[in-house]
Amino acid sequence: MKKNDTANMVELSYRGMEPVTSLSGVGPHLAAQLEKLNIKTLLDLSLHVPSRREAIELWPGRIPLPEKTVAMQLFILQHRPGKRGYPYKIQARIGTQNIDLIFYHAYPQTLARQFPLDQCVMAWGKPDFKRGQLQVVHPEPIPADQHSLVRLIYPTTEGLSVPRLQRLIKSALAQLPDIEEWLPPQMLMNEGWQDVRTSLNHLHATDEVSENLLEQARRRLAFDEMLAHQRRLLRFRSLDISASVQAPVCPKDFLPKILKVLPFTLTDDQFSAVEKCLERAKTGKPLSCLLQGDVGSGKTLVAFCVMAYMVMHGWQSCLMAPTDILAKQHEATIAPLANALGLPLMYLSGRLGSKQRRDALNAISEQVGIVIGTHALFQDDVAFKALGCVVIDEQHRFGVAQRAALTQKGKCVHFMAMTATPIPRTLAMTLYGDLDVIKIREKPKGRLPIETIATSIRRLDDLCQGLKRILSRGEQAFWICPVIEEDSELGLMSAVARAKMLEQHYPGLVGLVHGQLSSDEKDQVMASFANGDCKVLVATTVVEVGVNIPQASVMVVEHAERFGLAQLHQLRGRVGRSHVKSRCVLLYYPPLGEVARERIAVLRDTEDGFLIAEEDLKLRGAGDLVGTRQSGIPFFRFANLVTDSDLLVDAQKFARMSWDDEKLRLLDLIFSERQDVDDHLLS
Ligand code: ADP
Ligand code: MG
Repeated sequence: MKKNDTANMVELSYRGMEPVTSLSGVGPHLAAQLEKLNIKTLLDLSLHVPSRREAIELWPGRIPLPEKTVAMQLFILQHRPGKRGYPYKIQARIGTQNIDLIFYHAYPQTLARQFPLDQCVMAWGKPDFKRGQLQVVHPEPIPADQHSLVRLIYPTTEGLSVPRLQRLIKSALAQLPDIEEWLPPQMLMNEGWQDVRTSLNHLHATDEVSENLLEQARRRLAFDEMLAHQRRLLRFRSLDISASVQAPVCPKDFLPKILKVLPFTLTDDQFSAVEKCLERAKTGKPLSCLLQGDVGSGKTLVAFCVMAYMVMHGWQSCLMAPTDILAKQHEATIAPLANALGLPLMYLSGRLGSKQRRDALNAISEQVGIVIGTHALFQDDVAFKALGCVVIDEQHRFGVAQRAALTQKGKCVHFMAMTATPIPRTLAMTLYGDLDVIKIREKPKGRLPIETIATSIRRLDDLCQGLKRILSRGEQAFWICPVIEEDSELGLMSAVARAKMLEQHYPGLVGLVHGQLSSDEKDQVMASFANGDCKVLVATTVVEVGVNIPQASVMVVEHAERFGLAQLHQLRGRVGRSHVKSRCVLLYYPPLGEVARERIAVLRDTEDGFLIAEEDLKLRGAGDLVGTRQSGIPFFRFANLVTDSDLLVDAQKFARMSWDDEKLRLLDLIFSERQDVDDHLLS
């Protein structure tokens, strides 16, 4: 997608985009330091808001010592530059006491300017006693024009002091050109919001600003930020948003026909999910939904029903999964069903040989049917005959841009994302914008609850004995480790080492799978676990996603204290897929911290993935929720996905309403720059 010309003009004409080096006193060295904080322009500096504000007390210099940072009025008596490894010392008075100001690696000129002789200077610092002498190390002078005792704490990087950073921000703010307001005056009035500049000024203000004003400023910027993100999602969908598609027309007896070939009766939730999708598809607008269902809730069959429906109408339906293992598994599930309905099935992954690949590409460009595959599906050389429906499994593993790359291969495509990560609603909206959320809450019948046990590593021997009994009954176990190989620094049990040790207990029955194996090796191990040759599968979290091995009844997670709640829940979902009672053993290394303890308690108490997701969001914050940074969750500096969900709803509405408003291009430029991490995929 090319950047719009108008956007370019905005970019050129907006002076806030000038580099930090345009500030006086900022050279290449300082610029490099700022870049570590992701600050490149004047605007970046202005948006670098404090992480905390502290009201500081004035300490009159009387004993007892304050146990915290205080403000001090110092009268400067004498400068004593440090010689040969000794620190620079300034002698001063506070109240009736003498106090030494101590500086390591100081610039004498700077200190002479900051602490002039025979004058009063206000400074922050934390005083203490050393060898009976009152002293304070590295006090920070408070600028003379700052009249209140509010201290702002900014995130910074080594070698860049907060006061220095703060001065830079101040001058950047002063130079920031006016920003034409993009929100309607009525909205600002209703919410009590100020313009962007004023809001930023409040957040950086060293005067006392009321809590209320600060919160309004933050909320206003949070709204802008969410708005920019929602607009970004819309941008990717702008092609299909305005379009209308032909509603699929299928023979009346379609649904009964397809239900007949399914291996099970659908659960009520599965059935109503299928119905909802088809109803929406029939409205003449492209279907756009997120199918959320806990692990093991049976999303694949729902996807199959929807895809088959579209194919019977004369379109291609395509299912994309994040790994080969998963895509293969989908193929294995779906092929017999498609076959029973007489629908052709094509498979494409990056691992096909060149002839196979050519054949697959030919088939995809010529035949109507179901296409299953991996990332290979959205590559440039893949051309569909008539792509009408795209389903993406474990959607959070793909970026917004990758999704767009695939859906744009059809004229106007019905779209469904599936996720087993039961993300809370706010997060779903953030990630997927205006997708309709359809939930499957109910599990297929006959599943027993999974028993969740927390066990200390000190009881490893008992665990191994117990496992032996379970294996002798023909059941199987996953054993998850946090790292692949020994890492002395982290001191964590590795999958390789654990597999070796378990091999002693269960000779010939232990398999090992992790991300450094080739895909073929991975497949081999998974296959031998699936057919029961291998009984204990030691793995890293590569098995986390989607793998379905019904006879596995035990899930051991080693170093459970290192895993997030959602991830533990996902792992637990790998077992409990049959009529046998399953167990999840959270093997932890004591002592347990507060958060780890809480996580384990939540897991023990509930199997409801949606509840767990909400708890997880509270415990960890959004960034960590679905694992890595590449999860597609944008970086928000003002918005809080837990507490600002009301704003998010409004931002979404506003984004649609104001889609064409030229004024908002500046907003896009200011706020979505960092969110556009995967844009390059499309350019
Ligand atoms: P997920 O939602 O995690 O993708 P799957 O689609 O992989 O779940 O289904 C999990 C398991 O449940 C599979 O073994 C599948 O065959 C089985 N299953 C799906 N639907 C039903 C049903 N209605 N009744 C019984 N078993 C089902
Ligand atoms: Mg699945």
